Amino acid sequence: MSSHVFSYSLKTPICSFDARTGVLCPLCETKLRSGQLTDTDVQVSIKLTKAAEKNPEIAKLSFIRALDVDGDYILVLEPGSLAPLRRDPGFQKDLQSILGSKIWLTEADTTDRKALEDFFFPVRITNVNTVWLPDGSKLTKVVIPGRKTERFPHDTDKIGKIVRESRGIDLMVEFERM
Ligand SMILES: [Zn+2]
Repeated sequence: MSSHVFSYSLKTPICSFDARTGVLCPLCETKLRSGQLTDTDVQVSIKLTKAAEKNPEIAKLSFIRALDVDGDYILVLEPGSLAPLRRDPGFQKDLQSILGSKIWLTEADTTDRKALEDFFFPVRITNVNTVWLPDGSKLTKVVIPGRKTERFPHDTDKIGKIVRESRGIDLMVEFERM
């Protein structure tokens, strides 16, 4: 099979051949057994590879891993690849209908602050700081401008779970005005 047949270059954590056939090669199978790859990585790779044949935007994705948090998917993309995708407001909707779940996008090798900005997008974050509790544990406090209105697009408890599972952060969300 010559590579010029495929004009897209979707990158997934499993081999592109495996993602097209839905069958893992021995190497990917070993990675799955050892926990280097998860079932979620495999399922998302297969679904996106199928969708990429018809959707050139999906074909441009480079995703490194996928996490399932209570049925939502976090897609961790190649560093620097998220900003161009944000310019197309329909992209995330397409992705959600392809994967049949709510999708949260972030990048690998990023800072906690940047990851929080990714998860709260399109809401802007005013400040991120660390709060130490009397028992010595710490919380990461995110401050959101203004007050929480009915138009606020996120479930902050859900984002709390997302950041705990993806980055090990215990989150506290505060609005500037009550
Ligand atoms: Zn493979």
